[in-house]
Amino acid sequence: MRIQQELNALPFLERESIRRVVEEFPFRTTRHYSQLMEHSGDAIGKQMVPLVAELQDGDGYEDPLAEEALSPVPNLVHRYANRVLWLVSHECAMHCRFCTRKRRWKNPVPLTEEDLEKGLQYISRHEEIRDVLLSGGDPLLLPLERLERILFSLRSIRHIQIIRIGSRLPCVLPQGIQGDLADLLARHHPVFLNLHFNHPREINGESRRACECLADAGIPLGSQTVLLKGVNDDGDTLGELFQNLLTMRVRPYYLLQMDLTRSTSHFRTPVSRGLEILKGLRNRVSGLAMPQFVIDLPGGHGKIPLLPQCVEELREDAMVLRGFKGENCSYPLLPGESFSLRNLMRS
Ligand SMILES: *Cc1c(COP(=O)(O)O)cnc(C)c1O
Ligand code: SF4
Repeated sequence: MRIQQELNALPFLERESIRRVVEEFPFRTTRHYSQLMEHSGDAIGKQMVPLVAELQDGDGYEDPLAEEALSPVPNLVHRYANRVLWLVSHECAMHCRFCTRKRRWKNPVPLTEEDLEKGLQYISRHEEIRDVLLSGGDPLLLPLERLERILFSLRSIRHIQIIRIGSRLPCVLPQGIQGDLADLLARHHPVFLNLHFNHPREINGESRRACECLADAGIPLGSQTVLLKGVNDDGDTLGELFQNLLTMRVRPYYLLQMDLTRSTSHFRTPVSRGLEILKGLRNRVSGLAMPQFVIDLPGGHGKIPLLPQCVEELREDAMVLRGFKGENCSYPLLPGESFSLRNLMRS
């Protein structure tokens, strides 16, 4: 395949280093995704092809979001009281080089029957949990019977209102999305899917068919996009991506600042970049195409949305906001409001 040809063309020393990189962080891709690539340095290649830089980066954390520490039972992360993240799958179709959970690639630990039972028991016992987010790995790669069992068991728990699934399959292995899978998901509604697209070139006929198959089954589709240096960190690229996602009935949900994962710092953009891009996009794309820009704080302190600043001045009786063409415009405040607003805006 093309990747192998590119590897063979590298000078010997570099090839050796790449071998060390993939020993630590194994290489994996799909035919579909690698066919989107034109050369290893393009937006597709950068997400897929191992680089020596991965081993040269000692900064950051193995587990930046403290997921292991926040797991009361194996693979179940309980950070927010009302929702849990359950890593039910240990495999992905492709290994994205910037992945937050790349620590799990080398020795993937499948969820055992015992862990599955423990997870279900934990969720049943905690009535404050309303929302279960299945992730991994990619839950849509699980054998259908296993996925069905998980969904069925969750649906049997009275306090569970919604089920969410995070998947990159429609982007990297759209052939894996077929009617039987969509029907299975639809039998357990309300099920929401959060997909993962990072670049407009990831959208083609196949991924469109996969998304439409899921949307036709009544599944609301969102996308979590990671802001990646040299891949999508400019307004034109992201604007096109977000607008095109809408045409597949996928609603941009989050634009994520890179986590502080060890061996991924070459992907990290300054925080100001994300804010600038969003500010520029606000008036160019439909409001539906605007995701929230969030930082998932290190140590498990949660996803925090950031907004470009548009408050110019806060007076006793009015606030001055910058309008979409850049002009200042004053909006009247109710008596006494100024004080609480000042406090809110500081925190
Ligand atoms: C991201 C995440 C969630 C879901 O967060 P939302 O903001 O509701 O999408 C839940 N639990 C954990 C541990 C997470 O990382
Ligand atoms: S699909 Fe998601 S979990 Fe899997 S390697 Fe890519 S970023 Fe990581």
